[in-house]
Amino acid sequence: MIENKKILILGMAKSGFEVAKLLSKGNNKIIVTDQKDQDKSQIEELEKLGISFVKTIEPEVILDNTFDMLIKNPAVLPYHPCVEKARSLKIPIVNEMEVAYHYINKPVRIIGVTGSNGKTTTVTLIHEVLKKAKTKVKLGGNIGTPLSKIVNDLEENDILLLEISDHQLIDFRDFKTDISVLTNLCPTHLDYHGSYENYKDVKKKIFEHHTNKDYAIINAGNYDSMELTKDIASTKYYFNNEENFIGDDGIYVDNKKVIDKSEIIIKGTHNYENILVTYLVAKLLDIDFKYVMEVLKEFKGVEHRLEFVRSLNGVNYYNDSKSTNPTSTITALNSFDGNINLILGGMERSQDFNDLSPYKAKIKKIYAIGEVRKRIMEFAEKNNIEAEEFENLSSAMKKIKEEVASGDTVLLSPASASWDQYLRFEDRGNEFKEIVNNF
Ligand code: ADP
Repeated sequence: MIENKKILILGMAKSGFEVAKLLSKGNNKIIVTDQKDQDKSQIEELEKLGISFVKTIEPEVILDNTFDMLIKNPAVLPYHPCVEKARSLKIPIVNEMEVAYHYINKPVRIIGVTGSNGKTTTVTLIHEVLKKAKTKVKLGGNIGTPLSKIVNDLEENDILLLEISDHQLIDFRDFKTDISVLTNLCPTHLDYHGSYENYKDVKKKIFEHHTNKDYAIINAGNYDSMELTKDIASTKYYFNNEENFIGDDGIYVDNKKVIDKSEIIIKGTHNYENILVTYLVAKLLDIDFKYVMEVLKEFKGVEHRLEFVRSLNGVNYYNDSKSTNPTSTITALNSFDGNINLILGGMERSQDFNDLSPYKAKIKKIYAIGEVRKRIMEFAEKNNIEAEEFENLSSAMKKIKEEVASGDTVLLSPASASWDQYLRFEDRGNEFKEIVNNF
């Protein structure tokens, strides 16, 4: 418990709000700042607890050497002037999850999942399996519920399952998991971290304070993950190695086939890797693999991430609205053999559609939508891919309904942000699902 401290919370959002409430008990003096207006009722709730909220674009003006701690929202850049000032004043910089960790006062087992890709899918799969096996589990972190909101509800021997991003890891000090998963590593968020080396060092913190009594689950097929974890103290479990791997026909754990691919709804090597991790976690927790199998037979994917919508007249429909760049669309294309009716397009952001050309043989037709559709048409013409342009998703879907044939896949994987026509990518995905479900 943190007591009698003067604390500045930089960035409100869900996590700032929850950590402020958590800290309000120990006679702490707390100021929350944000550059944007916040929900009135939330501000009132904080004020009732003696916490003040200040809207400012210069929070560094508030911070001085009387403060004991800066709690930085993960989205705030590490070189924000207020963070730099805290550093120069030697004020400890932490984040919400690190603070909340100190409020865990019951014996629980913590599983932390990080990696460049696949975090949300992997924690969701693990969560489903634990629920199926009737294991007491609480899910939180980057996936939605801040740890600060969960800590007071923890019960003895709970499993605390956390999705942890690099933006959160960067400000960890004492935080320690019992089982850490690193799904994979690739250069991303370099603007935030300055370099790939820095990013990797931050990711390594998921294994910090581990001894050989703690476990690490690592992707043996990913060179950077292997290099990074060479000297960690954890007991290591690998996937994509000789024992735990994706075979032609199914998933293998300890060299034994545990499930046939035909029984799994979600598609793609990337998802099979997330499944391998899930099996390894189940093994470590002594959970019967039958529960993993039950989940895989019904799990349609995390919403908007290559989510299976339905099968109609021999056509399978997938919603991958989260794909906002060509790299994610490549991952999606890689998940199917061919006959793909691909809905591409959205906001113009100079995305390079040429990245998709190696996969053109899999594409039956492109339905180009949104602001960027003219450039998609040019790309299709250059690559001899059949294509047609539509102003929006609903007009493209009308045509798709007329044109598809049994054996086809219809894939919304736009390789583009949705903001030209939608507030959020979720809205685009929901519209797609609604149309498909009413076909
Ligand atoms: P994250 O939470 O790390 O952003 P998600 O589970 O939300 O990851 O998946 C986002 C996208 O990342 C997916 O739509 C897919 O394109 C890709 N992806 C998911 N799992 C993996 C994986 N294991 N390896 C590589 N790419 C993946």
